This record gives sequence, structure tokens and C-alpha cells, in this order.
Amino acid sequence: MSLIKEITLFRINRLLELAENRVKENKIDLAKRYVYIARRLSMHNKVKIPKSKKLFICKKCNNYLIPGITCKVRKSKDFIIYKCNCGNENKMFILH
Ligand SMILES: [Zn+2]
Repeated sequence: MSLIKEITLFRINRLLELAENRVKENKIDLAKRYVYIARRLSMHNKVKIPKSKKLFICKKCNNYLIPGITCKVRKSKDFIIYKCNCGNENKMFILH
């Protein structure tokens, strides 16, 4: 991995960490801004957002998803579904 990609990944992780903290402080707009910057960095430098973090990002409104604050969690037969307050759904496959 090149140095630029390494730095980008570091920045993405840090921004998402900050976004999580802002949501917990109820500063949703600021969190959305952080997620927007992280996603833009990822697209611009062709670095993938880690799979473990990807589930917690709403693609539609750039919200950081934390159950009980910005999203609801449901379970269907094969998926865990994170539903953002804007209505967008993220699905995660359940491994049996
Ligand atoms: Zn959303």
C-alpha cells in the first residue's frame, strides 16, 4: 500500500471515530460533515472504507448510524437491518 493510501485510511478511521463521538454528543450535523469528508477522501484516493465501519454509514444522507440515536435495528431471517432516520436501509448478512 502506498504512503498516500495509508495516510488516507488513517484519516478516514479518525474522521469516523470523531463522527461517532459527535453523534453521541447529539451534534448530528457535524457528524454528517465528518462522514461526508471521509467518504469523499475514500472516493478521491480510491481507498475502501473498512467493512466494519461501512455498515454504520448511511449512503443517502451521510449519517453515522448508532442504534437508538440515529437508526433502528431490525432482524429478519438472514439479515440484520440498520434503518437510518431518513429511511435508507443497510443490511448485514448473518453468518449461521
Ligand atoms: Zn440516512
